[in-house]
Amino acid sequence: MADKFIKVNKRYPLRRIPTGEELLHDAALNKGTAFTEAERNALDLRGLIPPRYNDIETQVTRVMENYRRKPNDLEKFIHLAGLQDRNETLFYRVVMDNIVELMPIIYTPVVGKACQEFGHIYRRARGIWLSKNDKGRMKELLRNWRAAEVRVIVVTDGERILGLGDLGANGMGIPIGKLCLYTACAGVDPQVCLPVTLDVGTNNEALLDDPLYIGEQEKRLRGPEYDELIEEFVMAVQEVFPNCLIQFEDFANLNAFRLLNKYRDRVCTFNDDIQGTAAVTLAGIYSGLRITGGKLADQMILFLGGGAAGVGISDLIVSAMVDEGLSQDEAKRRCWLVDSKGLVVKSREGLQDHKLAYAHDHEFQPDLLSAIKDLKPTILCGVSGQPRTFTEEIVRTMGEINERPMVFALSNPTSKAECTAQQAYEWTDGRAIYASGSPFDPLEYKGQKFVPGQGNNAYVFPGVGLGVVACRAKHVTDQMFFTAAKSLAHQVSEDDLANGCIFPPFTKIREVSGSIAVAVAEEAYASGLATVERPADLLEYIESQMFQPVYPDFV
Ligand code: NAD
Repeated sequence: MADKFIKVNKRYPLRRIPTGEELLHDAALNKGTAFTEAERNALDLRGLIPPRYNDIETQVTRVMENYRRKPNDLEKFIHLAGLQDRNETLFYRVVMDNIVELMPIIYTPVVGKACQEFGHIYRRARGIWLSKNDKGRMKELLRNWRAAEVRVIVVTDGERILGLGDLGANGMGIPIGKLCLYTACAGVDPQVCLPVTLDVGTNNEALLDDPLYIGEQEKRLRGPEYDELIEEFVMAVQEVFPNCLIQFEDFANLNAFRLLNKYRDRVCTFNDDIQGTAAVTLAGIYSGLRITGGKLADQMILFLGGGAAGVGISDLIVSAMVDEGLSQDEAKRRCWLVDSKGLVVKSREGLQDHKLAYAHDHEFQPDLLSAIKDLKPTILCGVSGQPRTFTEEIVRTMGEINERPMVFALSNPTSKAECTAQQAYEWTDGRAIYASGSPFDPLEYKGQKFVPGQGNNAYVFPGVGLGVVACRAKHVTDQMFFTAAKSLAHQVSEDDLANGCIFPPFTKIREVSGSIAVAVAEEAYASGLATVERPADLLEYIESQMFQPVYPDFV
């Protein structure tokens, strides 16, 4: 029989339709029991699948029944990963139909557990793995990838996985999970998404001693050799997948800032821990200000944690304050950092470069509580990866200083949150405006219902990515993240705020991401960074680009 071809997605090249077993093992094309009679006959499938046809709704019911039967979250994760490997359309349909239930499994917090156990639960490779032994051959290895066209890469070197530290090559769970969200939350086609792990070794002794660890059993590469490897990777991507967006993810801050500054004006890239987190937090602050009635320029923000997230958020807040009329210096003096050694001030020696902009000329305070008493912040933001560091005394003090204190415990996964939602409400008599990085269930306190917002960059990066990919922007700018923050904040309703929730419900994530994508693309056109001619109706164009989990008709 002559080969047949199909356009699975109207924007990407024709694909040859395999037949028989080969088709059933092609996750992008497989429909399982949803192949029709005509398809079974035409594609040599008869006999290879059970006789009864199921529509996709029935298949979703079966998957969820199986899923809910799993004894624990890690087994649920494995179950979904298996489905993704077998039938991508069904996987995304399941995830999108059950986004609130499944998000904590495919993403934080359970993806963190999956990374810790990665070598033990490993079934099947996904993505591209590059190690120092591949030096000089990166283009060749990227060309081994199944798809000729890649528009988004999420890459990690595994050194700072969530707040869990160095997980080496096990960190691959994060690029895979993030790319699932690109598709589920914003409709970026899974066929053009590529997760990458740069295995540069690990300093995690437990992993090095683990016979089932999947990475190189070597200490981390540092210095020029590391930089050369990254350079080769970034340049290889430019050649093999031109203009592909590269999202740097979960790199330790000693590399995160350097790499962002090195590549942001050379290629199409951003660092989600620095820029994505900043946008979601700024959006949360804008929404919180609708409750307190204050102005951004009047806020005093204190961070616990002066790493990628803390400094990234501060930088974006400064831009937003400057937009409201403050000078750079005035705006910077409204953002303060407390790190593991106390308040970051000018007199401290040996501060890392990225903290210097926020090292103010001020008396040193040895800990968070004394810094709060001294600075009287209106917003307390935890990005330290240190659990339960917002103690009762700290949260109560925030409540004494402010009628409605904003308390954001953004560290992931849940086990690392600086305080729980319950604690924040109890210790402030229900006055705290609370958000966390990983989800907390809605709760009742003194008869009032509270829906804790999830201040997670999943609200932002998928929409930013969709916007960048749709207009094929040359670079990703801070202004795009500022725009994304404003777009996200606009989508929070009065009802959300009435429940204390400063983010829109996750059930609306496709709509939210679509609007962010339009705002980001508008910004790219305005700044001359878009390389695709501007369509008359940007929203319609972007919506038409969004992947839908619908099976193709083969016959
Ligand atoms: P990072 O390693 O770059 O920074 C961590 C910072 O915390 C460092 O400045 C370190 O000095 C400081 N720190 C460590 N121990 C401390 C202590 N005991 N007291 C005070 N400060 C301490 O990491 P990052 O990228 O900034 O991420 C930090 C946390 O924020 C992680 O848990 C991460 O999961 C979380 N995060 C959440 C989101 C989100 O969307 N909610 C996004 C990014 C990061």
